[in-house]
Amino acid sequence: MNCHKCGCENSNEATYCRMCYALFNQGSASSPHTAPRTNREQLGQFEYAGFWIRFFASLIDAFIFIGCVLLFFKLSGHSDLTKVLKSGVLNFVFSGLILVFWTFFSATPGKMLFSMKLVDAKTGRKPSFFQCVGRLLGYVISGLVLDLGFLWIAWDERKQGWHDKLAGTLVVKML
Ligand SMILES: [Zn+2]
Repeated sequence: MNCHKCGCENSNEATYCRMCYALFNQGSASSPHTAPRTNREQLGQFEYAGFWIRFFASLIDAFIFIGCVLLFFKLSGHSDLTKVLKSGVLNFVFSGLILVFWTFFSATPGKMLFSMKLVDAKTGRKPSFFQCVGRLLGYVISGLVLDLGFLWIAWDERKQGWHDKLAGTLVVKML
């Protein structure tokens, strides 16, 4: 198969061009994860999701997750919610929710809102549970030096943060 962008030869199983990193249509409808659901998905047109849209998606996730945590503690009778916010419980619940969403839906609510999903960088399919765990741990590394690992998305060829490189994942946006 030849790349639609630069014309170079790639293997038929490739999901992206080895020369210019252009994404190819995600083939194989046999996998339930890639099975076409909507027309848009049927066309299989994807692009790498960039920094800003992912930034906004993560803000939305933060609002939703914090809202859920506070609501939960409110309903379970905690009156002092600032105490809850200051305790480490938020990080814990955050990590858990993110892992569940990545593993089962390949996206968090914010990502879904912008038609983005997390895929394996090699196959373009659903990432494994261990990849998701690795990516979550990668968040810590990406945040170590002034969030450089997150900013990396802005100039990386395939828009991978350090956590993506570590876990072998990509974030793609359906066109
Ligand atoms: Zn190419």
